[in-house]
Amino acid sequence: MGKIHQARRTRLGALMAGHEFDAALITRLVNVRYLTGLASSNAALLVFADGTATLATDGRYAGTAEQVCPDVELIVERAVAMRLTALAAEAGIKRLGVEAHDVTVEQYAELTAIDQGIGLPPLGRLVEELRMVKDEEEIGLLRRACELTDQAFADVLPQLRPGLTERQVGLLLDRRMVDLGADGLAFDTIVASGPNGAIPHHSPGDRPLEAGDLVTMDFGALYRGYHADMTRTVAIGSVADWQKEIYELVRRAQQAGVDAARDGADTREVDAAARDMIKEAGHGDAFPHGLGHGVGLEIHEAPLLGYDKAGRLMDRVPITSEPGVYLAGRGGVRIEDTLVVRADGPELLTKTAKELLVV
Ligand code: ZN
Ligand code: ZN
Repeated sequence: MGKIHQARRTRLGALMAGHEFDAALITRLVNVRYLTGLASSNAALLVFADGTATLATDGRYAGTAEQVCPDVELIVERAVAMRLTALAAEAGIKRLGVEAHDVTVEQYAELTAIDQGIGLPPLGRLVEELRMVKDEEEIGLLRRACELTDQAFADVLPQLRPGLTERQVGLLLDRRMVDLGADGLAFDTIVASGPNGAIPHHSPGDRPLEAGDLVTMDFGALYRGYHADMTRTVAIGSVADWQKEIYELVRRAQQAGVDAARDGADTREVDAAARDMIKEAGHGDAFPHGLGHGVGLEIHEAPLLGYDKAGRLMDRVPITSEPGVYLAGRGGVRIEDTLVVRADGPELLTKTAKELLVV
């Protein structure tokens, strides 16, 4: 793993040099993890344009840091960003890029007070940009997270029955993912039954499943830091014509989104491939969110797939395709897969079938 992280730091150094930064102060913890392998609640990384780096973390994580990134110089210190900024100033750095989307106004004032000679321009989302295209190691971890998610669904499906509450269904999924080997949940599981299905991010509550409900379950396993994301909607007992109709519409739109997720595709066109189908069926207003998002060390990361967000898909970028139709007071359908864009076409990582199941 050490080699992979060094390669990432070298790539960051090359990107920085192109933007005329002498060094970068990485404070977003997920970015520190990406560049070193260290997962912690307090760390920062100083990366020079040649790719060399110094890590700062406090005593709680020092031992882990020595294990996971022995090739990086380590400073054990609680005030991680302050210490690394002082170090950069001592090293004669003139332009130290900071993660302005992470540093608070208060922290920034403290950092600028350290040394008058050092400029602290915003680094931008350079690390997030690097993180968008995954290496095969990362795709392997994501694939495993998705397998655990598929398996948990297959195991819980036969247990669904009227009378179970949304919360109980959520716990069955959560418990099963962890029993199968997940490190935890990728995010809080969503279970939305009957009329609650019209709320895209409904939190599971006390409502019991009833015959005639559509039930939407949106969940995923967390595995070695990587987040799976899958949604399936099933019918309980029976299915009405209007339910069948919106289900088939969402299923076709979801597939159109998957098919459009090609190397080089404009993200707005991928969104449109699914959205236009839903609009044409008269449900455009009932699909109020973007088609999908990148997944990796975060559950929502670049690129975002929406009609108003420009971007381009590339080989080895994992994303979701997750259109929905939500009818207030009645119910809704969402279907979501995690997939990877590949040079020769999309590769599905979540593989659970998408025909309408009546359980
Ligand atoms: Zn989801
Ligand atoms: Zn999602």
